[in-house]
Amino acid sequence: MVSKNIICPVCGASCDDIQVDYDGESINVKNACKMGNAKFHELVSHHRIKEPQIKDNGTFRKAQWNEALDRAAEILVNAKRPLLFMGSETSCEAMEVGLHIAEYLGAVVDSNATECHGPTAMGIQEAGRVGSTAGQPKQRGSLAIYWGTNPLESMPRHMSRYSVFPRGYWTKRGRFDRTIITVDPRRSITADASDLHVQLRPNTDYELLSALLTLLHGKKPHSSVEEITGVPISTMEEMLGMMKSTNFGAIYVGLGIASSYGKHRNAELAFNLVKELNNHTKFVIGALRGHCNVAGFNQIASYLYGYPFGIDFARFVMSADLVSHFPATCAEYLKKIPMACIDIAPCPTTLASDVVLSGVIDAMECDGTFYRLDDVPVYFQPFTKSPFEFTQSNEDTMKQLFERIKKLR
Ligand code: SF4
Repeated sequence: MVSKNIICPVCGASCDDIQVDYDGESINVKNACKMGNAKFHELVSHHRIKEPQIKDNGTFRKAQWNEALDRAAEILVNAKRPLLFMGSETSCEAMEVGLHIAEYLGAVVDSNATECHGPTAMGIQEAGRVGSTAGQPKQRGSLAIYWGTNPLESMPRHMSRYSVFPRGYWTKRGRFDRTIITVDPRRSITADASDLHVQLRPNTDYELLSALLTLLHGKKPHSSVEEITGVPISTMEEMLGMMKSTNFGAIYVGLGIASSYGKHRNAELAFNLVKELNNHTKFVIGALRGHCNVAGFNQIASYLYGYPFGIDFARFVMSADLVSHFPATCAEYLKKIPMACIDIAPCPTTLASDVVLSGVIDAMECDGTFYRLDDVPVYFQPFTKSPFEFTQSNEDTMKQLFERIKKLR
């Protein structure tokens, strides 16, 4: 059966035009990029986790759903300091239940922002943000700046859907009427596709942003900035000239800003630069969020508890493959402590867990909400149903787990 306008559950672009032909055994996907296509094929993958597993004496055995759920609840209830790590590849509805479990247990709760755009979120809190929906630069944008990101590989349809190729109000000829600047130490394929590549030295984003602000204030930065950043002042002036003279500019920041020296101070300065650019022309800034619903946790946690993310180790991991993302020493520690996870396929986190609960694939097998990269909530509907009788969604699993936790306490 062919289903149209399906939302892709992979990256923050949340493409909503995916066409899927799925007959229960084979799948044919249209409009998705390579990453999205691979994810949709997880539906028919041989390595899908179809049954829960429990680790006994270091070896996994198949388990009944209720037994596995009980064991997961025991791990959380018996922990001296339980920690829940809510991954980004599940719905806001499931995350909300996880946050309530953490509140009930007095646990620490966190999500992927900790290891990616957390500093960007902190920069927003420091400086405020001139933002927009992705539709505004799509319709009005004439200059796109990719700073510390390589979307042609990490978010392959961003340019075609939101920023560069669409025809807009001032850009009737699409790409021909738009300008791209890439700020990146690497000569990435996005840099190759740009009109100007500002190839700064690694970890000098703060200095470059400071110099741009100095120039914007009508002053000349100290000449040492050329040696520090590796960027000639004439190139900074050229970049700033392009920014001031455009009709509508958008900066898309990636992890190059959030994870280089300066971290949230880089983000803060970038937000301040954009605020001041609005004295000259319309300018907005946003983050390219890597996972489909990494923005969702920040939103839900902020409106429920006032903070976008926390930081700590985890004893319950959900749709995140935490062990692959954390530094090796943290991953080793996670392996030593009791841990349960929900996932759809084997990964380092399932191997390190004591209990593995079968995950349901959001946007394919259940409905729910993701927050797109521009913090717009997107409701997704499934084109097939959960393959399990014991759970209909990750939200359902979390609710069942919460009930058990309440009984145990
Ligand atoms: S760009 Fe992202 S959301 Fe769009 S199809 Fe590719 S992986 Fe999916």
